[in-house]
Amino acid sequence: MPEILGRILRMPRFTFAFTAFATLPWIALGQKQPQPTPMPPAIVAPADKPYSGAIQLAVDITDITDRVEKVHEEIPVETGAKELVLLYPQWIPGAHSPEGPVSALGGIVTTVDGTRVQWVRDLVNMYAFHIPLSPGAKTVGLDFNYLSPIKRSAGRIEMSDAMADLAWSEVLMYPAGYFSRDISFEPTLKLPTGWKYATALTTASQTDNMVRFERTTLNTLVDSPLYAGLYYSRIDLSPAPSDPVFLNLFADKAEDLKMTPEQLQVHKNLTVEADKLFASHHYNRYEFLLLLSDKVGGIGLEHHQSSEDGVGADYLAGWEDGVAERDLLGHEYTHSWNGKFRRPADLWTANFNVPMRDDLLWVYEGMTQYWGNVLTARAGMRTAEQTRDYLAGVAADFALSRGRDWRPLVDTTNQPILSERRPVSWVSYQRPEDYYLEGMLIWLDADTKIRELTGDKKSLDDFCRKFFGIYNGSFITVQYTLDDVIRDLNDIAPFDWKGFFQQRVYDLHPEVPTNGFTQGGYRLVYTDKPVEWMEKELAKQGMVDFSTSLGFSLGEYGGRGEGEPHVIANVYWGSAAFKAGVTPDMELVSVNGTAFTAKGLRDAIIAAEKDKKPIQLQFRKDDLYLTIPFAYYDGLRYPSLERVNGTPDRLDELLAPSKSPLPSM
Ligand SMILES: [Zn+2]
Repeated sequence: MPEILGRILRMPRFTFAFTAFATLPWIALGQKQPQPTPMPPAIVAPADKPYSGAIQLAVDITDITDRVEKVHEEIPVETGAKELVLLYPQWIPGAHSPEGPVSALGGIVTTVDGTRVQWVRDLVNMYAFHIPLSPGAKTVGLDFNYLSPIKRSAGRIEMSDAMADLAWSEVLMYPAGYFSRDISFEPTLKLPTGWKYATALTTASQTDNMVRFERTTLNTLVDSPLYAGLYYSRIDLSPAPSDPVFLNLFADKAEDLKMTPEQLQVHKNLTVEADKLFASHHYNRYEFLLLLSDKVGGIGLEHHQSSEDGVGADYLAGWEDGVAERDLLGHEYTHSWNGKFRRPADLWTANFNVPMRDDLLWVYEGMTQYWGNVLTARAGMRTAEQTRDYLAGVAADFALSRGRDWRPLVDTTNQPILSERRPVSWVSYQRPEDYYLEGMLIWLDADTKIRELTGDKKSLDDFCRKFFGIYNGSFITVQYTLDDVIRDLNDIAPFDWKGFFQQRVYDLHPEVPTNGFTQGGYRLVYTDKPVEWMEKELAKQGMVDFSTSLGFSLGEYGGRGEGEPHVIANVYWGSAAFKAGVTPDMELVSVNGTAFTAKGLRDAIIAAEKDKKPIQLQFRKDDLYLTIPFAYYDGLRYPSLERVNGTPDRLDELLAPSKSPLPSM
């Protein structure tokens, strides 16, 4: 009763008050506003001091039916410690993103000196597990299962009946409070019967399907993934006896492993060209781990003494149609120098649970994208013409990208952290990770600029020898800042490199950086002839591309599941299609009243160029059918690089096999 009276009495006052401040909440008399609860203590920061005793790690990958990787660890604990905090790796070098798959763990059980003790996950850091210790505790036991994805919707498939890609970062935990280089592991692995394996780790012993590896640091262990499988071949690609390099192929079936002499030669050329470029190497031996599979997912992940690579099953068998994926090995191999040996200072972290800063990825990835493609051409894995077509396609895409109007290139380096690499709705407007491909064009610009400045006496090759060719043989990372890059560039060719990168990377730069083409003796043009290898690649991916004409591309088959790919995959922001209301959830149904085929649409574009009549395209959006006229009369347009006669042909010069002698290392 008093409460009701009180409310009636207060009502008029509050009514007036809330007319003026309608968004303020109602607060009862005497009620306090909520206050934040103090955070629990932060997880202890890593310190550069040795962890006492080696951690025993036993991994069992024999459950290929359920695709489960079983883990057991024995972790010695520091004398007198009250708790052990175990970390599951979150920031995996090369992923550029805090995406360690902690949600894929099951069956986590901890013991202290053999007695089960319940772990507690940290309330703030989901990658940290607290294990209380009793006085005198000596060893913590840890068991868990890593439940690797079974369906593609759960993530990249890592295991099949015939092969497995074992990332040690997914099958271990380690004590908080130490640098990853200060913790030792003694790993063992149980393989399915009859499987072979390859890794940059050193094998201590093997009995049947049990392998014991030599003691190593956590740092090197996480950096040394292992491939295993039934169908395996190992190929020597060493450019010199002092520089051992091997290609380890794992396939879905034995016949996919067959390599022609020509294929072998271009893969060998790749390591020779890299030696000539860098005049150094930074590994004991380098292991390319390459899976050829339509079952296990593709991958390209750099490591210091190996790389985790994955392509389609027909990489070798369908060589003629596989031009697009041939820069993968060149890219990942380049990372042994650029990214692993030399790394942006703020990207290097003390362990795998400290945030990385990605702001120099336009050097780390952009220059690697450049050298990956240049080395691929120098090795003869792609022709100069194929490489020029690729570069033209990249520039043409950027020319349509309106994201350039608002997002400086450097901000795109934050994207892996922002989105953990999930797809975006408007690629051309958000330009999620342009630091790779635009970075590549900027380094082509820099290379041809050095050649121009020095009368073609010096090039970016000279920068590489200076910047990466130090401490030959060492695989201890040397950090760098942008100032270090600029200093070494200035030593090769004095120029305003600071202003060069400021303008292209840090400022808004709506123009596409195509100086590399003009300085290289070419210009970007559009013709009506498609590039055959690109068309084949699009067809393999189930895509049809009308980006440079109508402003959209098509992929997937949609609900009706038949015919050609007809679902809009990408619409360029600001394009004619965009302005007409075409969005990436529509299906293209018909062209001028006839059921859609890619050929039919191409013919209609050619006809409209002559008769200047709008093309009538019918789209389906959910259950609505919309007919949109396209007054587009410029015909089919395919980007290409055209030689500018009378100018130095630097582009073909830099794509040709290096004339330098093989350095002795
Ligand atoms: Zn890369």
